Amino acid sequence: MTKIQLLTQTEKVLNKISYASKAPKNVKGWELEVDPALGYAYDQGLRFGLVHSYEGQNWVPQTPLSDHQQNRFDSILSSLPKVDPLKQSILRDTYPILVQPIPGISPHTVGVHEDQWSPEEYYRAMMLSRLANLPLSQTYQSHQVSDWIRGMLDSYYRAHDILIPTTTELRLGSDKKFVTGALTITPESGTYFNMAVLDFESLYPGVVDVYNLSYETIQCGHPECQSNKVPGQDISICRQRRGIFSAIIGALRDLRIHYYKPLLKTLDSQTEDYRVTKAANSILKLVLVASYGVTVRIHGLASPLLGEAITAYGREVLQSTFDLARNEGLKPKYGDTDSVFLDNPSDQQIDKFTRQVRDKYKLELAYDRRYSVCVLSGAKKAYFGILPSGETEIKGLTVAKSNSPRFFLKTFQDCLAILGKGRTSAQEFEAAKLGTRAVVNNALSFLRQGKIPLADLEYRVELREDPRKMINARTLPQPYQAAVLAAESGQNVSRRQEVGFVKVRPFKHGGRTFTVKPTAQAKPAEVNVDDYVRNLLSLLDQTFEPMGIRLGARIASVPSLSEF
Ligand SMILES: [Zn+2]
Repeated sequence: MTKIQLLTQTEKVLNKISYASKAPKNVKGWELEVDPALGYAYDQGLRFGLVHSYEGQNWVPQTPLSDHQQNRFDSILSSLPKVDPLKQSILRDTYPILVQPIPGISPHTVGVHEDQWSPEEYYRAMMLSRLANLPLSQTYQSHQVSDWIRGMLDSYYRAHDILIPTTTELRLGSDKKFVTGALTITPESGTYFNMAVLDFESLYPGVVDVYNLSYETIQCGHPECQSNKVPGQDISICRQRRGIFSAIIGALRDLRIHYYKPLLKTLDSQTEDYRVTKAANSILKLVLVASYGVTVRIHGLASPLLGEAITAYGREVLQSTFDLARNEGLKPKYGDTDSVFLDNPSDQQIDKFTRQVRDKYKLELAYDRRYSVCVLSGAKKAYFGILPSGETEIKGLTVAKSNSPRFFLKTFQDCLAILGKGRTSAQEFEAAKLGTRAVVNNALSFLRQGKIPLADLEYRVELREDPRKMINARTLPQPYQAAVLAAESGQNVSRRQEVGFVKVRPFKHGGRTFTVKPTAQAKPAEVNVDDYVRNLLSLLDQTFEPMGIRLGARIASVPSLSEF
């Protein structure tokens, strides 16, 4: 038999060997990992999940499109920014199968017990069967998005006589183990009123589509493609050949952004239309989210150069969007992965800017949210914002980390509640800032009076090492002190386990000085109040520094419980 090789586009004559089960390990060749049953279905042109016939290389679903469905579809096609025959043909194949009615079947047919049957999950599984061309038994309650993507690619390749590349071929000779990540632009620390956050809608799938990033288009050998380099990388992308992966991901992205997502908002949640649309929308979302990750991590889909190209374009798009905003007189203050923060833009400015970006990159930048007040720390990925509703969002701040004591988070949240009251104007915010001092003083006085439950003073840390190996160390880090004490009281403590402990005043244990106790063993009177006061104030000062609030200096002079 003759097959086309994906990467070189040349023909290859092969002997076909069929296995009734998985191929033995020592056999060399292609498509050895394709499940024989699936291989049969692919070769017979079967399509899972819908009643259809097969004409030439096209699946023809049983139920024709309604006029309304056809009109909507035509408008998706006509909105494509350029002629793109491959993507159009994929859209033409995919759309009709996704909008087919969903047959009512019994749990028994899928091999699921009635108690575990979920109609919503069934709709999702049905959509997935159609999209990834996998049997329902493999899609019901499946969370293996990489299998879905592989199913899509494999069934496309097989239907078009393309030899599925081996894992080694896909790597294109690269032994790269890591891919450079997304860009985070250092924030301009400060307090901002009316900060707008704009997000790219599925940025990575977008660059995959727009820049034609696909297994067979990267590191192109054509002399005329050598100048089409990925920004900052020595990887050239083919200009002539449309990539299959990029066309598929692009088609799914178009369906989600231009069809399913807007459609879902218009439908009554009690209707069949809504259920079908919701199922398709959620499947598409998951596939799009995973489409970059599979190129890095997943056996049979990994192509490090492809992954590198995707994030490189992602970084390029974010940086140049940030620069464009500045050149347009907007005030960008922070950017991370796929979002930019703009200081107090008008709605008209946002509209104009998102249109400019769409025209320039063919990517959708959308208004996501506005903070009435947003406080950016000088560090990346660490800020908080107060929404117009008064709700707060906290990102990456140490004071709010899950292993910090709840007492810290709670005090911080109480401060935010006070600050939130001043969200309407800069003047009111100044007044609200003064209120935080009282909140903190109050919390500290509760702490000094021993009124904070030990559970709220607990730190939680995962043990990286086996505590038994650390037992003879001259000085023990605090989590291991807690582990030693817990073990001595008969608890089983091991590596990777999380220990909870409270900071207590220093005491001697077996010749060494310990400063913590497991929460269960600590007594309120032993709590190292000074340590908590110092830590809380320093964390709050770090967090509030951009607002010009300094809590530490003044409060530290108040005598604490331990000094009485
Ligand atoms: Zn080329």
